[in-house]
Amino acid sequence: MNIGIAGCAGRMGRMLLRAVLDSAEATLIGGTEREDHAAVGSDLGVLAGAGPVGLAARGDADAVFAAADVVIDFTTPTLVAGHVRLAVAHGTALIVGTTGLRAADEAALDEGARHVPVVQAANMSIGVNLLLGLTRQVAARLDAGYDIEIVEMHHRHKVDAPSGTALALGRAAAEGRGVVLDAVSDRIRDGLTGPRRSGRIGFATLRGGDVVGEHTVIFAGEGERIELTHRATSRLIFARGAVRAALWTDGRPPGRYGMDDVLGLA
Ligand code: NAD
Repeated sequence: MNIGIAGCAGRMGRMLLRAVLDSAEATLIGGTEREDHAAVGSDLGVLAGAGPVGLAARGDADAVFAAADVVIDFTTPTLVAGHVRLAVAHGTALIVGTTGLRAADEAALDEGARHVPVVQAANMSIGVNLLLGLTRQVAARLDAGYDIEIVEMHHRHKVDAPSGTALALGRAAAEGRGVVLDAVSDRIRDGLTGPRRSGRIGFATLRGGDVVGEHTVIFAGEGERIELTHRATSRLIFARGAVRAALWTDGRPPGRYGMDDVLGLA
């Protein structure tokens, strides 16, 4: 599979270059950057922190989409609709990890997915997506006699809480139970809270140091407790998941897919 990377000089772009170069099944075919970015013309291998590979970052996205079987986009929402148009024009599959998509971007992805495979996920880590699937399955098999609590820890610089992934885990648990998260979530407990209410899904947030991201889903029953934990130690996990999604599109019909499709959890 010939893979192109959009935004190849970004934090994730460089990780993606490295993940493609590390993959035995993927061939790096090119990388795009903002036309006026200092990295345009730089060797993609050097951007990835490895040796030169003889391919330069380009300001011309059209050429990269034309050469690639699949393009991975971890950039910014304003670019996504244009990338969908290029993917459709060249019959290129598209992997979108960019977050903060607006309704119009989602509509563009839906439209593009009528013509080419489109995989989009706000968290492309294989482990987190497995954890989401497992959480849904366990919640579906346990009744409200098992209290669900979600604990997450991140580095001291994180500005939002609970994390988007913790909320996604809460939604997965709620889906498994057949309820809506907003109707059952306890996001904060402080002071005289009274006993825990049955059927609630609780969140606890820890912050400190340089923790990349840790999430635990607890199912606490009478006499036993199940805990599902994921610990991230490197952002490379998102890049590896995206490359796995890119390889998975080989021979797929057009359609809108998520990581649960890629991992066979759908
Ligand atoms: P970043 O700002 O470091 O990288 C974005 C890159 O896009 C920059 O290098 C920028 O110059 C480039 N860019 C801007 N305009 C461009 C253009 N016209 N053509 C080509 N490139 C252009 O950001 P980041 O930390 O790498 O994150 C990128 C996105 O990925 C964010 O939305 C972030 O939330 C998301 N993200 C998703 C996951 C996931 O698993 N889905 C994981 C981590 C980050």
